[in-house]
Amino acid sequence: MSTRLPWHDPLWSQISSSLEQKRLAHAYLLQGPAGVGKANFASNLAQLLLCEQPSLEACGQCKSCHLFEVGTHPDYRQLVSEAGKSIGIDMMRDTSAFFSLTRQYGRYQIAVIFHAERMTMAAANALLKTLEEPPASALLLLISEQASLLPVTVRSRCQLLRFTVPAADVALSWLKSQGLESDQAQHNLGLTRGAPLRALALNKENDFESRRNTILEGARALYSGRKDPLDLAESLLKLGAKHALYILWQWKAEMVRSLATDQHCADTALAQQIGQRRLLKRMAGLSTAIRQLDSQLNEQLILEDIFISWV
Ligand SMILES: [Zn+2]
Repeated sequence: MSTRLPWHDPLWSQISSSLEQKRLAHAYLLQGPAGVGKANFASNLAQLLLCEQPSLEACGQCKSCHLFEVGTHPDYRQLVSEAGKSIGIDMMRDTSAFFSLTRQYGRYQIAVIFHAERMTMAAANALLKTLEEPPASALLLLISEQASLLPVTVRSRCQLLRFTVPAADVALSWLKSQGLESDQAQHNLGLTRGAPLRALALNKENDFESRRNTILEGARALYSGRKDPLDLAESLLKLGAKHALYILWQWKAEMVRSLATDQHCADTALAQQIGQRRLLKRMAGLSTAIRQLDSQLNEQLILEDIFISWV
């Protein structure tokens, strides 16, 4: 179960009072900008409704919660379209078929439609049929950043849950609770127009990029004799052995590609110096080492062996 986001409190109150009055709608439109937690809300709401012993939140312990968390709950569906692709009528027919199945566990059958604005007209019409005569147990959660693109007929049959960017101090303190420094949090929020989840994701991307650079700098230093294999093993261990080996495997693959296609990469000269045969051999060595890490052998020794074999 993901933690509820603090700026969603008013929306949770709205849902709680509908539940108390047994007046939950059959369809909600979760509308708002990217990165404010619409998917988090939808997922938490679905788990709460499917939970066999819910209180204010899902219990996280029952069979239903367990199935939900591993993504195999039979009364729950997600419709996700690939970026740039529409949601076609076939996906919507599958959803109608899902609602016609017998419920396996609780009182609800729940489908979440991500990027609902990507529905084709035909898909929207098929959805309308479900919205006009929803089975008693059906709950549809439509998520959209551009709800104005949805047909009015669809929108008018959904109850609106409006998500907005939280107040700056709320967003800041949440990002700090996620481990960001104040300056960084402020900077990222500026770039994402105050959307906290996007601000956090931005940091993860930056982190990934800077870790990758550290790993590759270390490997280049090894090849130029500026670093000793054992030192490199020790420093990469701190960045996560498996992650480091995977990055290095990709790096070698990039070098092989650059030799094979005459496409320059940052390390083409180094690639020529090592040569294709040895590069391929080292990629195989890295794959083996990555598998060895899974069997929990000594990580440091595995890294040391790899880097010793490179010099
Ligand atoms: Zn539960």
